[in-house]
Amino acid sequence: MRPAVFLDRDDTLIVNRAITAHSAYPGSLFDPALVQLCPGAALACRSMHQAGFALVVVTNQGCVARGECSVQQVEATNARVRAVVRAEAGVDLDGLYYCPYHPRGTVPPFHVEHPWRKPNPGMLLWAADDLRLDLAGSWMIGDAERDIVAALRAGIDRPRTIIVGDAPAAEVGHRVDSIAAAAEIVLQSAGGRSR
Ligand SMILES: [Mg+2]
Repeated sequence: MRPAVFLDRDDTLIVNRAITAHSAYPGSLFDPALVQLCPGAALACRSMHQAGFALVVVTNQGCVARGECSVQQVEATNARVRAVVRAEAGVDLDGLYYCPYHPRGTVPPFHVEHPWRKPNPGMLLWAADDLRLDLAGSWMIGDAERDIVAALRAGIDRPRTIIVGDAPAAEVGHRVDSIAAAAEIVLQSAGGRSR
């Protein structure tokens, strides 16, 4: 079993708000052509992968439940995320899981709460089983409190949770201003353990 770094997708790994702010659905990015990595994300992915961490994206996509886009659009966008990481970081994401459900959605069967929807821990627990991950040694990097809470509920200790940006979060291990800075924390901890 190996540890993972769980990554939120939107505004952690790829740019969302700055691109979709003036679209019909701010915060929902479902056009593969618009995918671009956050600054420093490629190097962060490469270095964490080289340090022995599985890279696992876990992303809420309630846009499906809200009728803003289709499952196919989300999956095409996710495929583009994988391709861009491969091209720019030179590594493959080990997993990418998304949750199309939202309890205030309108599109059946997605208009319900679901154990996969962060802050629930379902995606992380599923990934851990699917990919044989060591959850206790894993990390979470996200930009919202729900990312951190999902990790805590999955059994990841608070010192291995990192929030990127200034979103309010009651319980988080570290707060940084970029995924690059988050990766440095992960790598320092990993190096400290092995040397
Ligand atoms: Mg996000």
